[in-house]
Amino acid sequence: MVRSRGQSGRLKHFVAVLIFLLGIMVGNGFLYYRVFKSWISYQTEVALRKYSDIGMIVLRATLDSRAERLRIMASFCGSEPGDSRDNWVKTICSCAGSGARIGAADTDGELWYGNSENRDISDCDYYKRVMNGEQVAYEIRPAGFSGEGSLVIAVPRYGADGSITGVLCEEFNCVDLGNSLNSVDRTDSGTTLVINEKGKVVFSYAGMDAFSDFYEMMEGMDHRREDAVERLKASVRNKEKGFLEYVSSGRRRLLYHQPAGVEDWCIISLVDAQAYQKEKGAMRRDLLLISTITIICFIGVAVLAGMIMYRIRQETEKGKRDFLTDVYDRKTARYMLERHLEKGGSGCCFFLDIDNFKNINDTKGHVAGDRALQYAASLLKQEVRHDDVVSRYGGDEFCIWLWELRDEFIVRGIAERLVQTFRDEAEFTISMGVSFFAKGDVYEEVIRRADRALYFAKENGRNQFALLPEDEKEAGQERTV
Ligand code: GH3
Ligand code: MG
Repeated sequence: MVRSRGQSGRLKHFVAVLIFLLGIMVGNGFLYYRVFKSWISYQTEVALRKYSDIGMIVLRATLDSRAERLRIMASFCGSEPGDSRDNWVKTICSCAGSGARIGAADTDGELWYGNSENRDISDCDYYKRVMNGEQVAYEIRPAGFSGEGSLVIAVPRYGADGSITGVLCEEFNCVDLGNSLNSVDRTDSGTTLVINEKGKVVFSYAGMDAFSDFYEMMEGMDHRREDAVERLKASVRNKEKGFLEYVSSGRRRLLYHQPAGVEDWCIISLVDAQAYQKEKGAMRRDLLLISTITIICFIGVAVLAGMIMYRIRQETEKGKRDFLTDVYDRKTARYMLERHLEKGGSGCCFFLDIDNFKNINDTKGHVAGDRALQYAASLLKQEVRHDDVVSRYGGDEFCIWLWELRDEFIVRGIAERLVQTFRDEAEFTISMGVSFFAKGDVYEEVIRRADRALYFAKENGRNQFALLPEDEKEAGQERTV
């Protein structure tokens, strides 16, 4: 099939639209991935925040109830100084459950546990604060009474006249509270801990015991930013909330911190972000699969559409072709030249005629004549470019448009090669008239000039071509080979 410039232009458009649509699809997929990724990450953050809030509620409720219980006990404490305290101290102190102990201090700061054990807490910050009127004070003792970290809760004792007569303290193991903070059944297998402003761990989960300093532990992790831990410290100090992502033993983890609302403590919730990574990986795989299937379908549809278009074009082409030789018919060739001239195109015209064709018909019959015409057409198609248009003008005459061919030297070369091909490969020869055309020409004129050149070729003895140079076309002077 001879493909015209218009057809290849349309094909280019088709391919461009296809690439554009594929581009949109790939872009869409990428966008979807980004949105979904941030959605998963958002869900992870929401869950982490939720567990942090739950931890905070557990912490405050536990501390408040313990402090309230202590206050009630304090109201039963006598205000007598010295040895007479033994009577009530023993009773109160026996109320402490396992993992905790209760002691009472007078204004001298001597803390009594109801046994021979006592200690001076007059220099302790929590003692001073309560004696100065604070309703409750907390303090962490890294090596408490059980040898592990313990929390001291201190409340004031009041005398009959309402004056502060001392402090009642409860000290209990931090591990228990740490465990209750982490007793919430979490779906994300995360953990919660409490640190103070300096990073000292107040309550933690099992396994965190190896680190008393949270910031020290964080220094040992891989962070995206070098100053990540410093920024975390500042954020905790400023009582801000925030997230931090880091890598621990090759696993991505996410941290959320917010002020605990007790002392200068900060509640920290951690989660292994691997699950989130897994979801992201699964989503990426799904997306890749969907994209691949879609692209294959898309290409399939495009190929199918292309094939249908090709078939339709073939059918249309058939209608434009000469029934005997399968080259374009005269009407189509005329239309093509006129379109070309309208667009300002130029080129040259080969107008050719089989020499003594009547003899073939007369001696070998019309069927042989038809075959000779078909053979001539196939030789012509074979000798010119795909873009050029070969047509049957009528009878044994053929016409060829060679688009944008203006160089006389080259044209002569092609014309000579064509005539020579018939000499070599056919049982008959051809005569050919060659003329040029350019913008402003009309079909009839182009044919007339080429026909005139053909006349000279015939007159000159046939089996040759004659050329009507463009510069001589108006003057009517013809030059032949
Ligand atoms: P010249 O060298 O001067 O061209 O001599 P010629 O014998 O080829 O003369 P001309 O070109 O005028 O002859 C064309 C002949 O082609 C006339 C007609 O009988 C024959 N012809 C036209 N159409 C067909 C066709 O479709 N099939 C066959 N077999 N012959 C055709
Ligand atoms: Mg002829």
